[in-house]
Amino acid sequence: MTHILHRQIHTTLPVASGGRGIELFDADGRAYIDASGGAAVSCLGHGHADVLAAMHRQADTLAYAHTSFFTSEAAEALADRLVADAPAGISHTYFVSGGSEAVEAALKMARQYFVEIGEPQRHNIIARRQSYHGNTLGALATGGNEWRRTQFRPLLIDTHHIDPCFAYHYQQAGETDEDYARRAAQALEDKILELGPETVMAFVAETVVGATAGAVPPVADYLRRIRDICDRHGVLLILDEVMCGMGRTGTLHACEQEGIAPDLMTIAKGLGGGYQPIGAVLLSQTIFNAFASGSGLFQHGHTYICHPMACAAALAVQEVIARDGLLDNVKAMGAHLTRRLGERFDNHANVGDIRGRGLFMGVELVEDRSTRLPFDPKRKLHARIKKEAMARGLLVYPMGGTIDGIKGDHVLLAPPFICDVAAIDAIVERLGDAI
Ligand code: PMP
Repeated sequence: MTHILHRQIHTTLPVASGGRGIELFDADGRAYIDASGGAAVSCLGHGHADVLAAMHRQADTLAYAHTSFFTSEAAEALADRLVADAPAGISHTYFVSGGSEAVEAALKMARQYFVEIGEPQRHNIIARRQSYHGNTLGALATGGNEWRRTQFRPLLIDTHHIDPCFAYHYQQAGETDEDYARRAAQALEDKILELGPETVMAFVAETVVGATAGAVPPVADYLRRIRDICDRHGVLLILDEVMCGMGRTGTLHACEQEGIAPDLMTIAKGLGGGYQPIGAVLLSQTIFNAFASGSGLFQHGHTYICHPMACAAALAVQEVIARDGLLDNVKAMGAHLTRRLGERFDNHANVGDIRGRGLFMGVELVEDRSTRLPFDPKRKLHARIKKEAMARGLLVYPMGGTIDGIKGDHVLLAPPFICDVAAIDAIVERLGDAI
């Protein structure tokens, strides 16, 4: 009998009793390869000695101090590091406890920015229908995933959603990437013009679409076009890299591969690698300057912002990634994973697409690969594969069903950056058996 309200009320979950490296163990002694890193969180795997040592040191020194009185060495050092490695124009960071909180803070920064510069009429937010930005009310309103939102209407923010997102590209075979990028970006400009540019505050998008679509990277040039459109109309670009960021795609930030920089960026998950709950907003000098020369204050805050334990753990995670050259391993193991998935599934009748970047890969399941017809959502294929994979000692992150008329089942793979060839081979082997 559990007294925890779990998401699935009638499911009994195994008890996780330990973790080492790429494996988690349950209380019955079964081992699972963590091929999803939880939900793209555990980038260093479990029980990493250097991170644990840093956490012990921090706990011995200082567990908590409220930011109205103090800053901390851990928070300052992590901020210095994140800003030094950030995309062009980013000058500051704001630490919160997770991805949804980061999205909430970024939206409030955007809103306050326009108030500070005397354009308070800019309040409209545009996002993509096929997106997930978190589960707090503001973040929920921003994401387009209708089945998550519908029962909570009226939502606090009225976000405007556009189609298509590049995640739809797979189901619209025949259109070139160039035409698709142009059409998808044009949808943003059309929406800005429809609402009136002077009313639009921000466009929010995941650089690589994660939970709703299964690691779908943007087609070439899409985000450069989006950046141009935002600039032309004075709209802020908020990139949500909570899932795809912090090295998961082989570069620290996924947007580096697109050659653009956002005005605001949200990060979380891999930032702390699961060792502590932490998220952050990276903000541009322009936004910072508006606060600094305006009210002199960002009107926001939570009890646990800049938590020293969280910052110390995240700093250790990021230092280990840099010291051990793990982004190179993400690239190399990502290439190996892509190759092995291709070998195993290229001729599989029910695997329609294999895509992603680095160690952020999606496998799309279809009823008919020649027509790209998805499975009937009632068959809940993604959930069945998760179960079959667990029975084989493998954790994968499945998604599926119907999202606003777009059907599809995907399996997301996001294994720890420390994976070697043998681990990748075992992941593909077990996933093949499960499918
Ligand atoms: N944005 C994106 C892109 C995400 O994938 C998630 C979590 N899956 C969130 C925001 C919300 O993060 P959290 O669950 O840490 O609140």
